[in-house]
This record gives sequence, C-alpha cells and structure tokens, in this order.
Amino acid sequence: MPNNKKEKPAGPNRLQSVKGMHDVLPEQVAIFEKICKNAKDLLDFYNFQRITTPIVERLDLYARTTGETSDIVEKQMFTLKTRSSETFALRPEFTPGIARSYIQNNMDQLSPPVKLFSIGPLFRYEQPQAGRLRQFNQINAEIFSVENDPIYDAQIILAGYQILNDLKIKDIIISINSIGCKNCRPNYRKALINYYKSREKQLCEDCKRRLPTNPLRLLDCKSEQCQPFKERAPITVEYLCGPCKKHFKEVLDYLDHLKLPYMLNNFLVRGLDYYSKTVFEFITETSETEKKISFALGGGGRYDYLVDELGGKPTPAVGLALGIERIIEVLRHRNLIPTNRPKGKVFLVHIGELAKKQSLCLVELLRMAHIGVIESLGKESLAAQLRVADRVGSPLALIYGQKEAHEDSVLVRDMKTGAQETIPIAKLPEMIKKRLG
Ligand code: AMP
Repeated sequence: MPNNKKEKPAGPNRLQSVKGMHDVLPEQVAIFEKICKNAKDLLDFYNFQRITTPIVERLDLYARTTGETSDIVEKQMFTLKTRSSETFALRPEFTPGIARSYIQNNMDQLSPPVKLFSIGPLFRYEQPQAGRLRQFNQINAEIFSVENDPIYDAQIILAGYQILNDLKIKDIIISINSIGCKNCRPNYRKALINYYKSREKQLCEDCKRRLPTNPLRLLDCKSEQCQPFKERAPITVEYLCGPCKKHFKEVLDYLDHLKLPYMLNNFLVRGLDYYSKTVFEFITETSETEKKISFALGGGGRYDYLVDELGGKPTPAVGLALGIERIIEVLRHRNLIPTNRPKGKVFLVHIGELAKKQSLCLVELLRMAHIGVIESLGKESLAAQLRVADRVGSPLALIYGQKEAHEDSVLVRDMKTGAQETIPIAKLPEMIKKRLG
C-alpha cells in the first residue's frame, strides 16, 4: 500500500521495495483486513465459497483467455521461465485461473450455480501511479451456471455494490454496457472497422495496430488524439441481436427493481477478450487534484464462452473484481478509516523478577478467559509501563508486583479514576468482565 510518509531518497545502503510494490504496514493492515472481512461475510451470505488458486499459472492460460491484444497480455505480464523452458506468469487477474480450476476439478458436477470468491494479490507490469500498482489485491467473485440467466448478472453487480456500500462508499454509480455475443458482435466489429478505417491515419499507434484484430479496444483508448473519434463511433447496443437485447434489458430491470444507481455507457468494453453481453464498472468520484475525476473501484462482466474455450463444458458465467488498494485510497480521502485503538484490552504491568517470570502464565489465563491483554514485558519501571497503558487507552491496568505474585493476586487500577483494588487471581477474569461490561 503506498505509504504517505515521505520516503528518504535511496542511498547505496538503503533497501527499497520493488517499484510499484508496497509493504502493507501494521497500521494499514487493520483496514485491509476489515475490507476483506466485510467482503467475506457478504459473499458468504450470498453463498459464495472461497477458492484459492496458485499465484503462478501457465502463461498461455492468459494468452488464450484474457486475449493476445489485451493490455494485460501485450504489456503487463510478469513472466517466469523455468530451467526446463516452461513459461509461467504471475497471475494478472483471477478469472482465467478460477475457470481453469473449475474445469480441472470437475466443478460442473456440483449443483449449479457454482459461486466462488477469491481474495489475494495480482501482478501487472504497469507504469506505477495513483491507484495503479504492480502488485495489488482484489476481491473477486464468479458465478458459473447452466443458464446465462440475467439474474446472476444482477446478483454479482449487487454483491459488488453492497461490499462498497457496507464500507460507507455511498456514491457508487454502476457504469454498464452490453457488448453482445458471438452472433451479433461480428456485425458490430465490422461497423467499427468501417468507421475507424477512414480515420486510421489520425489514430494513435496502439489503435492503428488493434483496429484489424480487436476494434472494440479502440473505444477504451485513453489517448487524447483518439477521443474525438470515439464520440461518433457506432455503439454496441444498436447492434445487439434479439437474445442479447432481451438479456441486457432484463439485467437493467433487475437493477431498477433493486434501485441500484446505474448509467448506460456505450463505450465501456473492458478490454478483455473473454467478455460477452454484460460488462460493468463501479465508479466513484475523487478529488485528488482540484477537479473531480471518476475512479473505478472495480468491474466485471459475463463470460459465457471462457470455460468452453478452455476445454470444459459450455458454462455461462459472470464475475466481478474490486481493487482493495483503490478502496483504501477512497476511504482515506474521505476520512472513513477508523482509528485503530485497541478497545477494551487490559494492560498488564509487572514489577520485579518473580512477577515477570509469572506474567506469561497470567497472560495465558486471560487468553483462556477471552480477555484482551496488552503488555510491555521488556520494560521494568512502573511509570514507563503505566505510560504505555495510558497511550494505548486501556481502561484497566493489572499491576502485578512481588507481593501480588507471592499472594496470587493482582492490583487492578482504573485508569480513568486511579482507584485501585486487590483481586485474587482466581476471581480476576470474572471481575474484569464485569468492569468492562
Ligand atoms: P480489472 O481486473 O482490470 O477489471 O480491475 C478491477 C479493479 O482492480 C479496478 O477497478 C481497480 O480497482 C483494481 N485494479 C486494477 N488494476 C490495478 C492496479 N494496477 N493497481 C491497483 N488496482 C488495480
């Protein structure tokens, strides 16, 4: 996670993490885990089961699925070559690996829909900048079914929206489009190629190269010089076949029913080859600079041919991915990250050799009683330990001195009032629970 503290310039003896890859420091782990826990609880409620696939997969898995002309495969793969000349890739996205696992583990034998989710790191060789890292984490969810029922598109969109909503990101807009199926997409491709052909000379080099092979990608080109042409380009929804139109209309009907805020975006194509029909993104606004900019926290879409193309039974599917670091960025800007004070933990103060020796046993006694305890075992002075207790905001300090260690008791000090009371260790858990309510 990018660290906001100014980093010292790299000197010859100063080790640095790899460009675009960051440590998640202890004070940042709490929010990271909170996001993951919220997502896990919610996806568990919707009956998604967690799956963990390897970080390393065969390189051709991505070339075959994500697409040779996608940015990910063209420019962003971290690849490895083994001694026996096999080529592997650090996973740049979850879906191909999960589809591979679905086929390899015969999940088509399970009762459909098969709902899976994953959380973990991904790797893309990008130019690092705000919200764009080379190692980042995603929450990913997929639904494999036998029918390409639009209700699953709606459910996956709902799940992503609610994960963000539960984190108090309330201004999410769902940007949505349909890019059609195998039957209607060829006509749309043709229309796009015809349209862009006459403007080819004015396009950027990437678009010129992609025009004959993947013309849809021209719609999400970010280059300034290509923007004016985009506005008058043919739009997908006008080329959808009957079943795709019906599918898209039903997805939107579900979103209306759920009162989810969405915006039709004719230019959303999402740049990966395996998508068909519905594609979507979760957009929020951020004012990192003076002007507000739209920021995608996640996205996804339907991929009805992927499992089939990888050698499995034809299995319609739909998935979503949310970027954890981007979510944290938004929470940080909006001051929505809770301060991380350990609440309700007692502080153990030890004085003298015997008490120090027995203090680990006392901590164990409290652990068995499910009482949170903070200690500063290496510190010897009472004042120093009480200062730490004060700093971490413990409501009670347990003062365990030579006398107490001999008598099997503890002096319990209320950190607010300063009142102190000696309690036999046998009664300590019960008393603490009463005091902490
Ligand atoms: P994608 O897998 O490209 O559809 O991205 C889904 C979400 O992952 C995006 O909306 C971002 O929130 C996040 N994401 C994608 N690429 C990066 C990256 N390089 N660094 C940080 N987050 C990313």
